[in-house]
Amino acid sequence: MGVTIPCPACTVGSIVIEPRLLATGSRFACNRCGAALAIAPGSVDTLERGINAYEKIKTRAASLVEQD
Ligand SMILES: [Zn+2]
Repeated sequence: MGVTIPCPACTVGSIVIEPRLLATGSRFACNRCGAALAIAPGSVDTLERGINAYEKIKTRAASLVEQD
């Protein structure tokens, strides 16, 4: 599940982030200026909780659709 955000450095390019990889320390670069984005070590737990909560909601929503 890739997430595209506008580049905060050049404001022209965009950065595609894979949240699971971001949580493992991967860096993601702007397609225009090359500015790299990574998570602060102290924020990894918060990110992982958010990803897990999102996956639970997604699974629940999928099961509701299948019941129709
Ligand atoms: Zn940029």
